[in-house]
Amino acid sequence: MTGVADAGLSMPDNQSRPGASAVPLPPVFETLVFETLVVVGPGLIGSSVLRRAREFGGLARRVIAVDVSPEVRARVTELGIADEVMADAAEAAAQADCVMLCVPVGAMGPVAAQVLPAMRPGAILTEVGSTKVSVIEAITPYLRPDVPYVPAHPMAGTEFSGPDAGFATLFEKRWCLLTPLDNTPVEAVDAIRTLWERCGARLREMTPAHHDRVCAIVSHLPHLLAFTICGTADDLADETRSEVLDFAASGFRDFTRIAASDPIMWRDIFLLNRDALLEMLARFMEDAQAMARAIRWGDEAYIVDRIERGRKIRKSLIENEQA
Ligand code: NAP
Repeated sequence: MTGVADAGLSMPDNQSRPGASAVPLPPVFETLVFETLVVVGPGLIGSSVLRRAREFGGLARRVIAVDVSPEVRARVTELGIADEVMADAAEAAAQADCVMLCVPVGAMGPVAAQVLPAMRPGAILTEVGSTKVSVIEAITPYLRPDVPYVPAHPMAGTEFSGPDAGFATLFEKRWCLLTPLDNTPVEAVDAIRTLWERCGARLREMTPAHHDRVCAIVSHLPHLLAFTICGTADDLADETRSEVLDFAASGFRDFTRIAASDPIMWRDIFLLNRDALLEMLARFMEDAQAMARAIRWGDEAYIVDRIERGRKIRKSLIENEQA
Protein backbone atom coordinates (compact mmCIF):
# COMPACT_ATOMS: atom_id res chain seq x y z
CA MET A 1 0.00 0.00 0.00
CA THR A 2 1.50 3.36 -0.93
CA GLY A 3 0.87 6.95 0.02
CA VAL A 4 -2.65 6.47 1.32
CA ALA A 5 -2.39 8.39 4.57
CA ASP A 6 -1.02 11.47 2.85
CA ALA A 7 -2.93 10.93 -0.39
CA GLY A 8 -3.08 14.47 -1.72
CA LEU A 9 -4.35 15.86 -4.94
CA SER A 10 -4.07 19.16 -6.70
CA MET A 11 -6.10 20.62 -9.53
CA PRO A 12 -4.17 21.69 -12.62
CA ASP A 13 -4.55 25.34 -13.47
CA ASN A 14 -6.35 24.91 -16.77
CA GLN A 15 -7.94 28.35 -16.58
CA SER A 16 -4.63 30.11 -17.16
CA ARG A 17 -3.71 28.17 -20.30
CA PRO A 18 -4.28 29.77 -23.70
CA GLY A 19 -7.56 28.51 -25.12
CA ALA A 20 -8.48 26.80 -21.85
CA SER A 21 -12.07 25.61 -21.74
CA ALA A 22 -14.33 25.74 -18.71
CA VAL A 23 -14.28 21.93 -18.56
CA PRO A 24 -12.08 20.96 -15.60
CA LEU A 25 -9.15 18.66 -16.32
CA PRO A 26 -8.85 15.46 -14.31
CA PRO A 27 -7.13 16.10 -10.96
CA VAL A 28 -3.38 15.50 -10.74
CA PHE A 29 -2.65 13.12 -7.88
CA GLU A 30 0.62 13.48 -6.04
CA THR A 31 0.50 9.96 -4.66
CA LEU A 32 -0.83 6.63 -5.80
CA VAL A 33 -3.14 4.45 -3.75
CA PHE A 34 -1.43 1.26 -4.93
CA GLU A 35 1.66 0.19 -6.80
CA THR A 36 0.00 -2.74 -8.58
CA LEU A 37 -3.76 -3.18 -8.75
CA VAL A 38 -5.12 -6.45 -10.11
CA VAL A 39 -8.70 -6.43 -11.41
CA VAL A 40 -10.16 -9.92 -11.78
CA GLY A 41 -13.14 -9.76 -14.17
CA PRO A 42 -12.76 -6.77 -16.53
CA GLY A 43 -16.50 -6.52 -17.26
CA LEU A 44 -18.66 -3.43 -16.81
CA ILE A 45 -17.41 -2.65 -13.30
CA GLY A 46 -13.85 -4.01 -13.60
CA SER A 47 -13.15 -2.32 -16.95
CA SER A 48 -14.56 0.97 -15.60
CA VAL A 49 -12.04 0.84 -12.74
CA LEU A 50 -9.27 0.05 -15.24
CA ARG A 51 -10.33 2.96 -17.45
CA ARG A 52 -10.49 5.27 -14.45
CA ALA A 53 -6.92 4.31 -13.52
CA ARG A 54 -5.80 4.94 -17.11
CA GLU A 55 -7.67 8.16 -17.80
CA PHE A 56 -7.59 9.90 -14.41
CA GLY A 57 -4.55 8.38 -12.70
CA GLY A 58 -4.02 8.26 -8.95
CA LEU A 59 -5.09 4.65 -8.46
CA ALA A 60 -2.03 2.53 -9.25
CA ARG A 61 1.30 2.62 -11.08
CA ARG A 62 0.45 -0.67 -12.82
CA VAL A 63 -2.92 -2.27 -13.47
CA ILE A 64 -3.32 -5.93 -14.39
CA ALA A 65 -6.55 -7.35 -15.77
CA VAL A 66 -7.35 -11.04 -15.34
CA ASP A 67 -9.99 -12.92 -17.30
CA VAL A 68 -10.71 -16.58 -17.90
CA SER A 69 -11.78 -16.10 -21.52
CA PRO A 70 -9.16 -15.71 -24.29
CA GLU A 71 -11.62 -13.55 -26.31
CA VAL A 72 -12.12 -11.14 -23.39
CA ARG A 73 -8.36 -11.01 -22.76
CA ALA A 74 -7.77 -10.20 -26.44
CA ARG A 75 -10.41 -7.46 -26.29
CA VAL A 76 -8.98 -5.92 -23.11
CA THR A 77 -5.53 -5.91 -24.72
CA GLU A 78 -7.00 -4.25 -27.81
CA LEU A 79 -8.74 -1.61 -25.69
CA GLY A 80 -5.41 -0.82 -24.01
CA ILE A 81 -6.96 -0.32 -20.57
CA ALA A 82 -4.47 -2.49 -18.62
CA ASP A 83 -0.68 -2.66 -18.47
CA GLU A 84 -0.90 -6.44 -18.52
CA VAL A 85 -3.66 -8.93 -19.24
CA MET A 86 -3.36 -12.35 -17.67
CA ALA A 87 -5.25 -15.64 -17.55
CA ASP A 88 -4.05 -16.91 -14.18
CA ALA A 89 -5.59 -15.02 -11.25
CA ALA A 90 -3.11 -16.47 -8.72
CA GLU A 91 -0.10 -15.50 -10.82
CA ALA A 92 -1.42 -11.94 -11.12
CA ALA A 93 -2.38 -11.74 -7.42
CA ALA A 94 1.19 -12.61 -6.41
CA GLN A 95 2.32 -9.30 -7.94
CA ALA A 96 -0.39 -7.10 -6.41
CA ASP A 97 -0.73 -4.86 -3.41
CA CYS A 98 -4.46 -4.85 -4.09
CA VAL A 99 -6.65 -7.47 -5.75
CA MET A 100 -10.16 -6.38 -6.69
CA LEU A 101 -12.64 -9.12 -7.58
CA CYS A 102 -15.21 -7.90 -10.13
CA VAL A 103 -16.77 -11.27 -10.97
CA PRO A 104 -20.44 -12.30 -10.45
CA VAL A 105 -21.32 -12.73 -6.77
CA GLY A 106 -21.65 -16.51 -7.16
CA ALA A 107 -18.04 -16.70 -8.39
CA MET A 108 -16.51 -14.61 -5.57
CA GLY A 109 -15.81 -17.58 -3.23
CA PRO A 110 -14.07 -19.80 -5.84
CA VAL A 111 -12.04 -16.86 -7.22
CA ALA A 112 -11.02 -15.76 -3.70
CA ALA A 113 -9.89 -19.35 -3.05
CA GLN A 114 -7.60 -19.07 -6.07
CA VAL A 115 -6.08 -15.65 -5.34
CA LEU A 116 -5.75 -15.55 -1.54
CA PRO A 117 -3.00 -18.17 -1.10
CA ALA A 118 -0.89 -16.34 -3.71
CA MET A 119 -1.24 -12.84 -2.24
CA ARG A 120 1.65 -11.05 -0.55
CA PRO A 121 1.37 -10.36 3.19
CA GLY A 122 -0.17 -6.90 3.66
CA ALA A 123 -1.76 -6.78 0.21
CA ILE A 124 -5.48 -5.96 0.28
CA LEU A 125 -8.32 -8.07 -1.06
CA THR A 126 -11.45 -6.20 -2.06
CA GLU A 127 -14.49 -6.97 -4.20
CA VAL A 128 -17.45 -5.15 -5.69
CA GLY A 129 -20.25 -7.68 -5.24
CA SER A 130 -23.84 -6.44 -5.18
CA THR A 131 -24.66 -8.62 -2.16
CA LYS A 132 -22.50 -8.50 0.93
CA VAL A 133 -23.50 -11.05 3.61
CA SER A 134 -23.32 -14.01 1.21
CA VAL A 135 -20.13 -12.82 -0.52
CA ILE A 136 -18.39 -12.30 2.85
CA GLU A 137 -19.54 -15.79 3.90
CA ALA A 138 -18.20 -17.26 0.66
CA ILE A 139 -14.81 -15.55 0.99
CA THR A 140 -14.29 -15.95 4.76
CA PRO A 141 -13.09 -19.60 4.72
CA TYR A 142 -10.13 -18.59 2.53
CA LEU A 143 -9.11 -15.40 4.40
CA ARG A 144 -5.61 -15.03 5.81
CA PRO A 145 -4.78 -12.96 8.90
CA ASP A 146 -2.07 -11.10 6.96
CA VAL A 147 -4.31 -10.11 4.03
CA PRO A 148 -6.93 -7.50 4.94
CA TYR A 149 -10.28 -7.88 3.21
CA VAL A 150 -12.44 -4.82 2.47
CA PRO A 151 -15.87 -5.62 0.99
CA ALA A 152 -17.25 -2.80 -1.17
CA HIS A 153 -20.19 -2.16 -3.47
CA PRO A 154 -20.06 0.70 -5.97
CA MET A 155 -23.72 1.49 -6.61
CA ALA A 156 -23.32 2.33 -10.25
CA GLY A 157 -24.09 0.35 -13.32
CA THR A 158 -25.89 0.05 -16.59
CA GLU A 159 -27.76 -2.82 -18.21
CA PHE A 160 -24.66 -3.64 -20.30
CA SER A 161 -21.83 -6.00 -19.46
CA GLY A 162 -18.35 -6.95 -20.66
CA PRO A 163 -15.18 -4.92 -21.21
CA ASP A 164 -16.72 -2.68 -23.89
CA ALA A 165 -19.49 -1.55 -21.55
CA GLY A 166 -17.22 0.21 -19.02
CA PHE A 167 -16.38 3.90 -18.89
CA ALA A 168 -14.13 5.97 -16.66
CA THR A 169 -16.88 8.21 -15.25
CA LEU A 170 -19.28 5.39 -14.29
CA PHE A 171 -18.77 5.99 -10.56
CA GLU A 172 -18.91 9.81 -10.59
CA LYS A 173 -21.18 11.04 -7.77
CA ARG A 174 -22.50 7.50 -7.21
CA TRP A 175 -22.41 5.90 -3.77
CA CYS A 176 -19.88 3.25 -2.93
CA LEU A 177 -20.85 1.30 0.18
CA LEU A 178 -18.09 -0.22 2.31
CA THR A 179 -18.97 -3.03 4.72
CA PRO A 180 -15.70 -3.71 6.60
CA LEU A 181 -15.51 -6.63 9.00
CA ASP A 182 -14.91 -6.06 12.73
CA ASN A 183 -11.25 -6.96 12.33
CA THR A 184 -10.55 -5.14 9.05
CA PRO A 185 -7.56 -2.83 9.69
CA VAL A 186 -8.51 0.83 9.38
CA GLU A 187 -5.57 1.52 7.02
CA ALA A 188 -6.94 -1.02 4.54
CA VAL A 189 -10.41 0.54 4.71
CA ASP A 190 -8.83 3.97 4.15
CA ALA A 191 -6.95 2.74 1.09
CA ILE A 192 -10.10 1.33 -0.52
CA ARG A 193 -12.02 4.47 0.47
CA THR A 194 -9.37 6.60 -1.28
CA LEU A 195 -9.48 4.36 -4.35
CA TRP A 196 -13.24 4.83 -4.72
CA GLU A 197 -13.07 8.55 -3.93
CA ARG A 198 -10.58 8.84 -6.78
CA CYS A 199 -13.07 7.01 -8.97
CA GLY A 200 -15.43 9.92 -8.21
CA ALA A 201 -17.67 8.03 -5.77
CA ARG A 202 -19.24 9.13 -2.50
CA LEU A 203 -18.50 6.75 0.36
CA ARG A 204 -20.65 5.34 3.14
CA GLU A 205 -19.88 2.55 5.66
CA MET A 206 -22.53 0.16 6.96
CA THR A 207 -22.91 -3.40 8.18
CA PRO A 208 -23.21 -6.13 5.54
CA ALA A 209 -26.74 -7.05 6.71
CA HIS A 210 -27.92 -3.45 6.52
CA HIS A 211 -26.36 -3.15 3.05
CA ASP A 212 -28.31 -6.18 1.84
CA ARG A 213 -31.63 -4.80 3.10
CA VAL A 214 -31.00 -1.38 1.55
CA CYS A 215 -30.00 -2.90 -1.79
CA ALA A 216 -32.95 -5.30 -1.74
CA ILE A 217 -35.33 -2.33 -1.84
CA VAL A 218 -33.39 0.14 -4.01
CA SER A 219 -31.96 -2.28 -6.56
CA HIS A 220 -32.89 -5.93 -6.30
CA LEU A 221 -36.68 -5.55 -5.97
CA PRO A 222 -36.87 -3.06 -8.91
CA HIS A 223 -34.99 -5.58 -11.06
CA LEU A 224 -37.31 -8.38 -9.93
CA LEU A 225 -40.32 -6.23 -10.87
CA ALA A 226 -38.82 -5.33 -14.25
CA PHE A 227 -38.05 -8.96 -15.17
CA THR A 228 -41.54 -9.98 -14.01
CA ILE A 229 -43.47 -7.26 -15.85
CA CYS A 230 -41.62 -8.02 -19.08
CA GLY A 231 -42.46 -11.72 -18.63
CA THR A 232 -46.12 -10.88 -17.97
CA ALA A 233 -46.30 -8.76 -21.12
CA ASP A 234 -44.63 -11.53 -23.09
CA ASP A 235 -47.16 -14.08 -21.80
CA LEU A 236 -50.08 -12.03 -23.12
CA ALA A 237 -51.77 -12.68 -26.46
CA ASP A 238 -49.72 -12.04 -29.59
CA GLU A 239 -51.44 -8.86 -30.64
CA THR A 240 -51.04 -7.35 -27.17
CA ARG A 241 -47.36 -8.22 -27.26
CA SER A 242 -46.86 -6.40 -30.55
CA GLU A 243 -48.70 -3.42 -29.08
CA VAL A 244 -46.27 -3.49 -26.16
CA LEU A 245 -43.50 -3.02 -28.70
CA ASP A 246 -45.40 -0.27 -30.54
CA PHE A 247 -46.48 1.77 -27.53
CA ALA A 248 -43.79 0.95 -24.96
CA ALA A 249 -42.82 4.61 -24.54
CA SER A 250 -45.69 5.04 -22.11
CA GLY A 251 -43.66 3.69 -19.15
CA PHE A 252 -42.95 0.09 -20.05
CA ARG A 253 -39.76 1.16 -21.83
CA ASP A 254 -38.06 2.07 -18.52
CA PHE A 255 -38.76 -1.43 -17.21
CA THR A 256 -37.29 -3.01 -20.35
CA ARG A 257 -34.03 -1.11 -19.86
CA ILE A 258 -33.62 -2.63 -16.40
CA ALA A 259 -34.82 -6.03 -17.65
CA ALA A 260 -32.02 -6.08 -20.24
CA SER A 261 -29.50 -6.77 -17.45
CA ASP A 262 -27.23 -9.80 -17.39
CA PRO A 263 -29.16 -13.01 -16.42
CA ILE A 264 -26.30 -14.76 -14.59
CA MET A 265 -25.46 -11.71 -12.53
CA TRP A 266 -29.08 -11.23 -11.48
CA ARG A 267 -29.73 -14.92 -10.87
CA ASP A 268 -26.80 -14.87 -8.44
CA ILE A 269 -27.95 -11.65 -6.75
CA PHE A 270 -31.52 -12.93 -6.24
CA LEU A 271 -30.35 -16.27 -4.84
CA LEU A 272 -27.62 -14.77 -2.66
CA ASN A 273 -29.77 -12.00 -1.17
CA ARG A 274 -32.76 -14.29 -0.83
CA ASP A 275 -33.94 -13.35 2.68
CA ALA A 276 -33.77 -9.56 2.33
CA LEU A 277 -35.27 -9.68 -1.17
CA LEU A 278 -38.18 -11.92 -0.14
CA GLU A 279 -38.86 -9.66 2.83
CA MET A 280 -38.99 -6.56 0.61
CA LEU A 281 -41.10 -8.40 -1.98
CA ALA A 282 -43.62 -9.38 0.72
CA ARG A 283 -43.86 -5.76 1.87
CA PHE A 284 -44.23 -4.59 -1.71
CA MET A 285 -47.03 -7.10 -2.36
CA GLU A 286 -48.90 -5.86 0.73
CA ASP A 287 -48.58 -2.28 -0.52
CA ALA A 288 -49.63 -3.28 -4.05
CA GLN A 289 -52.68 -5.01 -2.55
CA ALA A 290 -53.49 -1.85 -0.61
CA MET A 291 -53.28 0.15 -3.84
CA ALA A 292 -55.51 -2.40 -5.61
CA ARG A 293 -58.03 -2.05 -2.79
CA ALA A 294 -57.95 1.74 -3.02
CA ILE A 295 -58.59 1.54 -6.77
CA ARG A 296 -61.43 -0.96 -6.28
CA TRP A 297 -63.16 1.23 -3.65
CA GLY A 298 -62.37 4.53 -5.33
CA ASP A 299 -60.22 5.75 -2.44
CA GLU A 300 -58.93 8.86 -4.22
CA ALA A 301 -57.03 10.23 -1.21
CA TYR A 302 -54.99 7.02 -0.84
CA ILE A 303 -54.15 6.90 -4.54
CA VAL A 304 -53.10 10.57 -4.64
CA ASP A 305 -51.05 10.17 -1.45
CA ARG A 306 -49.09 7.25 -2.93
CA ILE A 307 -48.43 9.05 -6.21
CA GLU A 308 -47.31 12.18 -4.36
CA ARG A 309 -44.87 10.09 -2.29
CA GLY A 310 -43.40 8.74 -5.52
CA ARG A 311 -43.04 12.26 -6.94
CA LYS A 312 -41.28 13.40 -3.74
CA ILE A 313 -38.79 10.55 -3.94
CA ARG A 314 -38.05 11.39 -7.58
CA LYS A 315 -37.54 15.06 -6.68
CA SER A 316 -35.09 14.21 -3.88
CA LEU A 317 -33.15 11.90 -6.20
CA ILE A 318 -32.76 14.76 -8.67
CA GLU A 319 -31.66 17.11 -5.87
CA ASN A 320 -29.13 14.48 -4.72
CA GLU A 321 -27.81 14.14 -8.30
CA GLN A 322 -28.72 10.43 -8.28
CA ALA A 323 -31.31 10.56 -11.09
P1 NAP B 1 -19.86 -8.33 -16.23
O1 NAP B 1 -19.76 -7.12 -17.09
O2 NAP B 1 -20.66 -9.48 -16.69
O3 NAP B 1 -18.37 -8.85 -15.90
C1 NAP B 1 -18.17 -9.99 -15.12
C2 NAP B 1 -16.73 -10.41 -15.24
O4 NAP B 1 -16.52 -11.56 -14.43
C3 NAP B 1 -16.30 -10.77 -16.64
O5 NAP B 1 -14.98 -10.38 -16.87
C4 NAP B 1 -16.41 -12.30 -16.61
O6 NAP B 1 -15.53 -12.94 -17.51
C5 NAP B 1 -15.95 -12.60 -15.20
N1 NAP B 1 -16.45 -13.90 -14.74
C6 NAP B 1 -17.71 -14.38 -14.85
N2 NAP B 1 -17.80 -15.58 -14.26
C7 NAP B 1 -16.57 -15.86 -13.77
C8 NAP B 1 -16.03 -16.97 -13.06
N3 NAP B 1 -16.80 -18.00 -12.71
N4 NAP B 1 -14.71 -16.92 -12.74
C9 NAP B 1 -13.92 -15.88 -13.09
N5 NAP B 1 -14.39 -14.80 -13.76
C10 NAP B 1 -15.69 -14.79 -14.09
O7 NAP B 1 -20.44 -7.99 -14.76
P2 NAP B 1 -20.41 -6.61 -13.96
O8 NAP B 1 -21.70 -5.90 -14.20
O9 NAP B 1 -19.14 -5.92 -14.17
O10 NAP B 1 -20.51 -7.20 -12.47
C11 NAP B 1 -19.35 -7.65 -11.80
C12 NAP B 1 -19.60 -7.61 -10.31
O11 NAP B 1 -19.94 -6.27 -9.96
C13 NAP B 1 -20.73 -8.49 -9.82
O12 NAP B 1 -20.37 -9.07 -8.59
C14 NAP B 1 -21.87 -7.53 -9.60
O13 NAP B 1 -22.73 -7.98 -8.57
C15 NAP B 1 -21.13 -6.27 -9.19
N6 NAP B 1 -21.81 -5.01 -9.50
C16 NAP B 1 -22.51 -4.88 -10.67
C17 NAP B 1 -23.16 -3.67 -10.91
C18 NAP B 1 -23.97 -3.49 -12.20
O14 NAP B 1 -24.91 -2.68 -12.20
N7 NAP B 1 -23.64 -4.16 -13.26
C19 NAP B 1 -23.09 -2.62 -10.00
C20 NAP B 1 -22.32 -2.78 -8.85
C21 NAP B 1 -21.69 -4.00 -8.60
P3 NAP B 1 -16.05 -13.38 -18.98
O15 NAP B 1 -16.53 -12.13 -19.63
O16 NAP B 1 -14.83 -13.97 -19.61
O17 NAP B 1 -17.15 -14.35 -18.73
